[in-house]
Amino acid sequence: MEDISHDFGSLRAVDQVTLDVQPGEVVCLLGPSGCGKSTLLRIAASLEELQQGRVLINGEDMRKPSGRMVPPEQRNVGLMFQDSALFPHLSVLDNVTFGLARLPARERRDRAMHFLDKLGMADSAERYPHMLSGGQQQRVALARALAPGPGLMLLDEPFSALDARLRDRIRDDTLHLLKSAGAGTLLVTHDPEEALFMADRIALMKDGRILQTDRPVDLYCNPRDPFVATFFGEVNRIEGVVENGRIGTPLGPVDARGLSDGTRALVMIRPEGIRVVVVGDADDRHRESHVIMSRLLGRNSMVHICMHDTQNREYHLHSTMPGVFLPHENQRVELHLDQSQTFVFPID
Ligand code: ATP
Repeated sequence: MEDISHDFGSLRAVDQVTLDVQPGEVVCLLGPSGCGKSTLLRIAASLEELQQGRVLINGEDMRKPSGRMVPPEQRNVGLMFQDSALFPHLSVLDNVTFGLARLPARERRDRAMHFLDKLGMADSAERYPHMLSGGQQQRVALARALAPGPGLMLLDEPFSALDARLRDRIRDDTLHLLKSAGAGTLLVTHDPEEALFMADRIALMKDGRILQTDRPVDLYCNPRDPFVATFFGEVNRIEGVVENGRIGTPLGPVDARGLSDGTRALVMIRPEGIRVVVVGDADDRHRESHVIMSRLLGRNSMVHICMHDTQNREYHLHSTMPGVFLPHENQRVELHLDQSQTFVFPID
């Protein structure tokens, strides 16, 4: 997609977006509700009018010189949406063979059964959609979208109607199936964990624009602005002024990465970037930091800490520690900063 913009009346829903998906690659369009993800996906599928910009598939412009748009069914794309919309009057098998009309009957059936089998739905081939759970219907919808062997899969929040445990399993099955099918995939989600799980690259959107497109590790470890940094979870914020290329924080100096002295800056520290070490209660050196509360979150623990700097300013910081780590209230602690989970942005 090249330089795509789209208006609904006076609302600019998509603003100058350029994005590509390579064969075999899973790209996640991630962003908060209403940021324009679905509109962009619908433009790629030709379910929404192309107002401005170009859509190319395998290098072919989807707007012909005559001005005619290549319709969805001629784009060789597989579509799957939140509401899986199976044909209610067709069996599971017939739903999946529906898009395979060009194949001989035997091959059609074999191919459909192959995908149903991969998704654990072969035993339900003769059942009808109303006899299936939501998760089973979504598996069938995925098999139906993949069976014709599309070059590109367009998936809009395909797992959002599922409960957490089922979602994890279907996500996993889907990822492996997409990878073995070799189709390029553009997947819309508002869930950062889902994007991290599924994506080779993530395009993070806000207010119709893409803020950053990167591999998950780069987006997480090198966010380009505060919105990107906080989209993957709340972070600790400390403001300061750059002096000698660094910003003083109660956790120690932080490298200001290219900001000139005198610049006001925001230091963002992920909770996992603060490591808590319990020290003896009688240790006077650590009077400035103590635990307010500790909570087990499952795989890790959240520790709320009160800390004072040398000018006796008070800070409330959050640390996540792996596993069960629950120091008691008022416990004195020492804090260690992981600079790789610390980001600095100038304050405008
Ligand atoms: P969600 O995650 O909630 O589905 P989204 O990021 O997919 O959101 P879009 O559905 O693309 O967002 O909507 C982008 C903006 O365009 C929103 O403000 C929405 O209200 C508006 N919008 C979407 N479709 C239409 C329409 N058919 N007519 C008018 N406005 C629309």
